[in-house]
This record gives sequence, C-alpha cells and structure tokens, in this order.
Amino acid sequence: MTTARYDLPTPDETTDEYWAATREGRLLIKSCRDCGRNHSYPRPFCPYCWSDAVEWVQTSGRATLYTFSIVRQNDLPPFRDWLPYVAAVVELAEGPRLMTNVVHCPIEDVHIGMALEVTVRDTEEFAIPVFQPVPVAGPASLDD
Ligand SMILES: [Zn+2]
Repeated sequence: MTTARYDLPTPDETTDEYWAATREGRLLIKSCRDCGRNHSYPRPFCPYCWSDAVEWVQTSGRATLYTFSIVRQNDLPPFRDWLPYVAAVVELAEGPRLMTNVVHCPIEDVHIGMALEVTVRDTEEFAIPVFQPVPVAGPASLDD
C-alpha cells in the first residue's frame, strides 16, 4: 500500500492541462470570455460574473511579491529540508495572486514589490510553480 504525500496536489480532469503546462515551465490561469477577467486558482466558472465560459491562458510568468513570511520552523518533510524558506503570495502580471515560494534568493534580499518570474520545483510527480528574482545572476539551483 502506498501512502499519498500530503504536500502534493490531487490532479483531476479540470487541472490536468495546468499540470502538463507546469512540466514545460509554463504557468496557466483561467480567463473569462464574457467579462475578460483572469482568476487563479482554476475554477470551472468565473468568480466575478459566474459565467462558465472560462478558458486556460498562458501567463507571462512575471509577478511581483505581494506579501511573504520567512518560515524558520517546520518539522514536516519535505519542508524541514528547505528551512529557512519563503512562503509568499505573488501578484501575477495578469492580475491574480497565488500562494507559492520564493526561491533562488537570499532571505535578507526578499522584499515586497520585488520583480519575480516563474520557475518550477520538480518532484517525481509534478512540477510545482515557484518564483525567483528577475534577473537571476548565474545558474539557478532548485536547492536554494
Ligand atoms: Zn467573468
């Protein structure tokens, strides 16, 4: 018997396209064909006008840091291996905000409003979208 990892998403037919895109380093959000607004997390309807005429659109991958917290204690794997890490809410250039991590950045350099770009944290099952500073100096390492 295998035990599901609590920290991984549970994909289904409504999110398969999203996870396929993240494996290619692309971040998708939903956009409403009726009112033109974007949203994330993905829903089968628009949270602004309730239309079900929503479709996937690819983002630019650009965002700014809206708010964050530096996590210094977390005994649960895999998080304890990342300490300290940055739990963040970023605002995408396309509007929606999403919870994520800021990576490849010294903790002391993290600040609200900083320019970020999407990258991914690969697991065996998923590529999880996370964000790194723009521009990145030198080769990126997912272990930072
Ligand atoms: Zn709408």
